[in-house]
Amino acid sequence: MQKKSYDVVVVGGGPAGSSTAAFLAQHGREVLLLERELFPRPHVGESLMPATYWQFERLGILEKLKSTSFVRKHSVQFISQSGKESRPFYFSETNSHESAVTWQVQRASFDNLLLQTAQDLGADVLQETSVKDVLFEDDKAVGVLAKTKDGKTHCISAKVVVDASGGNRLLSKKLKIRQPDPILRKMSIYTSFEGGHRDEGIDEGATLIIQTKEKKAWFWYIPLNNNKVSVGLVSDRDVLFGKDKDPQKIFEREVEQCTAVKKRLASAKQSEPVVTCKDFSYFSEKPVGDGYVMVGDAFAFIDPVYSSGVFLALKSGELAADSIHEALLVDDLSAEKLGGFVPTLQAGMEPLKKLVYTFYDHEFSFAGFLKENPQYKQNLIDLLTGDVFKEGVGAIFDAIEEYKRANGHSQGQRVSS
Ligand SMILES: Cc1cc2nc3c(=O)[nH]c(=O)nc-3n(C[C@H](O)[C@H](O)[C@H](O)COP(=O)(O)OP(=O)(O)OC[C@H]3O[C@@H](n4cnc5c(N)ncnc54)[C@H](O)[C@@H]3O)c2cc1C
Repeated sequence: MQKKSYDVVVVGGGPAGSSTAAFLAQHGREVLLLERELFPRPHVGESLMPATYWQFERLGILEKLKSTSFVRKHSVQFISQSGKESRPFYFSETNSHESAVTWQVQRASFDNLLLQTAQDLGADVLQETSVKDVLFEDDKAVGVLAKTKDGKTHCISAKVVVDASGGNRLLSKKLKIRQPDPILRKMSIYTSFEGGHRDEGIDEGATLIIQTKEKKAWFWYIPLNNNKVSVGLVSDRDVLFGKDKDPQKIFEREVEQCTAVKKRLASAKQSEPVVTCKDFSYFSEKPVGDGYVMVGDAFAFIDPVYSSGVFLALKSGELAADSIHEALLVDDLSAEKLGGFVPTLQAGMEPLKKLVYTFYDHEFSFAGFLKENPQYKQNLIDLLTGDVFKEGVGAIFDAIEEYKRANGHSQGQRVSS
């Protein structure tokens, strides 16, 4: 352990933790990042949103990313329950800048690159070090209790503790402030394949979102480098687990019944055991408090469908780091001051959440909506690229509500503002 006291201690070295630590180090802050695993380590969530470009630029890693063999992602394509393929939504249709093209990454090496960047920029990084507890004095976070790989425990004091522990949600659990999403109660079974079909040219790296019959579940199909494809199934838990209990069997059953996935995997070989995860849609009631801040999944996760997780992890890290730096400048580490970024973050997350709710509205079809309202295609592509922090990006949801009313949809979850 290098030092016993820091401006900021960051718990977790995923995209949220690494970006928070890196941006704080750029501000000249003394930061310690503690990560329980030894990187590189595998992680789900390979498909990026184009808007990540701006955090990569600020971190100075665009050239490094360009020199990797990560597959370039130009578009998202939807395949309906009947097998009808939408025209790909090319991000360059609304953005002629190079930021319109992003990457499908292998998270082990991508997360390692981010962690290395935080270290290169001046953050102290300790891997194989697990944070066992966040220490409070009265209601103010004042440090952490961490266990290093030699089995020793250390008290490290910090002016600010950042929880970036991802799905582990260290602080939300401790403070009992985790709230499941009121609508999304999903689960996922995923794995990867070698040799799955991929389209040619700029379509090679398209994310495919494929509905199964009767829209009861959907698959992601994400082409990666090294001839790999990430394939995952998402649905309500009771839909997938009927009489079959074995996740591998359930996955195979659903592939067998979904022609669009089956034909793409016809000559592919599964390269990893399936992984199951559930109840991943939630938020923390209180993402900041005196002396602490939550970022990335430790704060909230919406849903995998539009690949917004890594983008929101990076963006929340960036916004939080700037806010923490401002708070340290005036020596005001109150929840109010540290949380200056939260309304901005929430305003950007809101349209993404509405987009997800709309995806799961089984009566609604984007194809039908866009046929009648082609003027909203640009708005939709903005949302798919993660350009969600600009004025007016939520306008599409009022039009969707209007369309649903005009087409006699039943009163489901309203998504307009
Ligand atoms: C099924 C599924 C599919 C997804 N697909 C996509 C996708 O295609 N694209 C996308 O952008 N997002 C996707 N996501 C979401 C994405 O994986 C996450 O949003 C993203 O990883 C969040 O980053 P993070 O840094 O907040 O958390 P993480 O990446 O989970 O990082 C948290 C880190 O904290 C460490 N940690 C935890 N507890 C401790 C502790 N006590 N002490 C020290 N270290 C600790 C962990 O080891 C980990 O390295 C998907 C999510 C799911 C559930």
